[in-house]
Amino acid sequence: MILGALGLIALIAVGIRIAGGEDAWILQHLYALPALWAALARGTTGGAIVGLVASLVQSLGTFPLIERAGVSWVALDGIISLATPMTLGVTVGKLADQSRGRAIQLDALLEIQRSLAVAGPLSERLTEVAGLTRQALGVDRVRLVLEAGGDIPVAASAPGNFWPSEAGPRASATPCRRLVLSLDAGQGRVGALILERDGDLSAADRGRANALAAHVALAVENARLTEHQRHFARELEEKVAGATRRLRELDQAKNEFLTIASHELRTPLTALQGFSELMLTRQVPPERAQKYLGHIHTEAQRLGRIVGDLLDHSRIESGRGAELSPVPLDLGSIIEANVEIFASQHPRHHFDWPGAATVPALCADRDAVDRMLKNLLSNAIKYSPRGGRVRVEAGLAQDRPGMVELSVEDDGVGIAAEALSRIFDPYVRVANPETSTASGLGLGLSLVRGLAHAHGGSVEVESLPGKGSRFRVLLPG
Ligand code: ADP
Repeated sequence: MILGALGLIALIAVGIRIAGGEDAWILQHLYALPALWAALARGTTGGAIVGLVASLVQSLGTFPLIERAGVSWVALDGIISLATPMTLGVTVGKLADQSRGRAIQLDALLEIQRSLAVAGPLSERLTEVAGLTRQALGVDRVRLVLEAGGDIPVAASAPGNFWPSEAGPRASATPCRRLVLSLDAGQGRVGALILERDGDLSAADRGRANALAAHVALAVENARLTEHQRHFARELEEKVAGATRRLRELDQAKNEFLTIASHELRTPLTALQGFSELMLTRQVPPERAQKYLGHIHTEAQRLGRIVGDLLDHSRIESGRGAELSPVPLDLGSIIEANVEIFASQHPRHHFDWPGAATVPALCADRDAVDRMLKNLLSNAIKYSPRGGRVRVEAGLAQDRPGMVELSVEDDGVGIAAEALSRIFDPYVRVANPETSTASGLGLGLSLVRGLAHAHGGSVEVESLPGKGSRFRVLLPG
């Protein structure tokens, strides 16, 4: 390109010579053109070289003209225009250099923003950003340090092994300039940018570094915001997916519940219808009639329990809560009575109840406490189909001051860890091949939880599959 500009100078010189005559001096202004061309294409250096050559060549024509014409307007114009190509070359060259520098910086900034916008940990992209900064500022070494929220900041260098240290020996004898800039996008410091150059860092260089540091800080802040948004969107997506899954499960559980509920209701109803019909249509001997009446009573009780559970459940579900009448209770005698009933009905299970001696005073709704206990005891039996030990305990909760605990422990089939959080939800029944024939609506534990909450208490479970479960109801003393 420089050669082209020099060629143009030669062409202009030849043109002026050919034009000859008195008026050819006006053509000398054309010497500015090659200087302008070189300045735009090659910056200050190109502009200066070509401008100098142009001025020299021009002087070959100007000085003889002055000699011939003496001091005249034409000579004066010639002297002034001698400086034009050189001045124009240097000035325009400088402007071209500046705008080229800005363009490089803008490109680098775009690259930095692009690289920071990529998804993934910030630390991985920082090395690239350090490299781009080094290139854009034309420095020898760059280190970027970002505060990462924890104790250890994230850092990257270009070249990779650069670690600025105050006292370290330097291999090069050239004096080195270091610039440490704070990265701050207006919301507080996010890190630091350390630059080193062997040689000088001019005021213009420092200005560019400052501007770039401000932009890098903004890009980092943006990248963090984007990362935050991405994280938030991911979390939201997971939550929505979880809620949808849960709704689907509930829907399925409700359908299953309807099937089970009709089956559960039909079983005692069939027995009631069968035995009452027998007694109405046949002459039944008194001892047999007594037995039938016993069956009818048991089935009517079962029906009553199911309907009671359903009513309680719908009351709790509709937000009305359980109706409670708290009174000072003899918890020990409630447990004793239930253990006795259950033990008489389930001879394959061994009931372990240390006695009422240590049972503290409790103010609660008698019926609610009785139903919670019955539900837990009947589950302990249902879910240990091979028989086994059922331990009932009551006392002051050691880990919850002011609370009374009532626990029922069995050594039955246990519950898988992943199902533990769901068993207190209504309609939930956990599949287990050993207890697939166990009857139930999946409402018992949800009622226990509802009644415990209504008292200001809670219910907890610990369980190991194959080993057994321990349910603990906590009520305010
Ligand atoms: P139901 O007994 O009518 O199915 P529950 O709400 O009482 O409903 O219990 C919910 C589920 O929790 C049961 O289906 C069972 O899978 C599990 N579960 C409850 N108690 C026990 C226990 N003691 N041992 C093992 N699993 C239990």
